[in-house]
Amino acid sequence: MDLSKYPIKSIRDKIEKVNNILITTHFNPDGDAIGASLALLNVLKALNKNVSMISPNELPFFLTWMKSATEIINYEQQPHIANEKIENAELIFYIDFNSIDRLAKAGDSFHVSSAYKILIDHHPDPEEFADLIISETKIGSAAELVYEVIKEIGFEEFLNKDIAECIFTGIMTDTGNFSFSCAYPGVWENMSELIKFEIDRDFVFSQVYDNYSESRMRLMGYCLNDKMRIIPEINSAIISLSINEMENFEYKPGDSEGFVNLPFSISGLKFSALLLEKEDHIKLSLRSKGKFDVNKLARKHFKGGGHMNAAGCEASMSLIEAESLLIEILREYMTELQ
Ligand code: 5GP
Ligand code: MN
Repeated sequence: MDLSKYPIKSIRDKIEKVNNILITTHFNPDGDAIGASLALLNVLKALNKNVSMISPNELPFFLTWMKSATEIINYEQQPHIANEKIENAELIFYIDFNSIDRLAKAGDSFHVSSAYKILIDHHPDPEEFADLIISETKIGSAAELVYEVIKEIGFEEFLNKDIAECIFTGIMTDTGNFSFSCAYPGVWENMSELIKFEIDRDFVFSQVYDNYSESRMRLMGYCLNDKMRIIPEINSAIISLSINEMENFEYKPGDSEGFVNLPFSISGLKFSALLLEKEDHIKLSLRSKGKFDVNKLARKHFKGGGHMNAAGCEASMSLIEAESLLIEILREYMTELQ
């Protein structure tokens, strides 16, 4: 990967000059957000920097095993501690998001901070909310981009097995366990380098994918049997879950991970959505196969965003209204969904 268009040396100088460094990522952080951020955090720790990480909200339980994950400050739970860190930060890394809105409640504090801000991201069309923007939309994960940046800066000597596992987790989860966004040689070259750190691939896989409760498995069955709505004329599937239904299956954050992709094993399906009822809004996860652009749909109709084949957004309405609105919108794209 050619990072020569970025002032990489200036990043190294900045890191060397400052002491208080902060890393943050997007709301509802996933394997890539946490893996990429913790890889960077652990490299900066090895450099003896006073570095912390803030997540806008709780991270899913299946990511808590990663090196230094227990040190992550949850902004929703500890806003005072988080705000103090933000005030004292001299350098901030924004990882794996393209708009300040994605920091949710933490956004205002970050926005007013006078620290130098560096964005490392792979989402399309990043907004200008950082002093330096490293944006590579062709790369499958922010974790891989962070790895490339670490190498380019010349911090390779600080890499180790734990850090390689963080990077691997990000690549693995953002490529759907190497099923999409990985059709380029670079990712396999990077994987071969990471494997040399003797990462425990089986351990990482089982922590992330085989670590759920029985009730989560039954919730999955309920979704597929009772809740999945197929709309054949637009090749779409929609699963909606109310708070009550989630409570019936002892739902905890992270339990619905992967549900939105399940309908794609149906032949010819082009679009899938998972709608989750929250206290004051509906969270929509949108996925597509092929050229149907869910990032555009999320942006245009719901002020959301993401990638072409995986995006998300929120809607302030009831679950039934959100589902009806989504179907109405999808019908406008009938020809693209054939
Ligand atoms: P998920 O559906 O798994 O929450 O997110 C899929 C993708 O869409 C990720 O890249 C995520 O960062 C992005 N995304 C999810 N929700 C939102 C949202 O509310 N706004 C924006 N801009 N992006 C989102
Ligand atoms: Mn990502």
